[in-house]
Amino acid sequence: MNCPLCGKDSNCGYNQADPASTRCWCFHASFPPEIFEQIPAELRKKACICQTCLEQFRMNPSRTEIS
Ligand SMILES: [Zn+2]
Ligand SMILES: [Zn+2]
Repeated sequence: MNCPLCGKDSNCGYNQADPASTRCWCFHASFPPEIFEQIPAELRKKACICQTCLEQFRMNPSRTEIS
């Protein structure tokens, strides 16, 4: 699964075949709601944002040039 913001591998450990899987770091991270506005609607809640994009967004939330 690739990060919807940068297109790189998000290293998401979430297994879509097993909805009970909570192994991914993203289950324990808090995402600012604004970051989801930068994800194409069809990818929201499907693709995992990578840690790099989350950190970049936290450091500079007004930047929209992550692509
Ligand atoms: Zn990313
Ligand atoms: Zn994940």
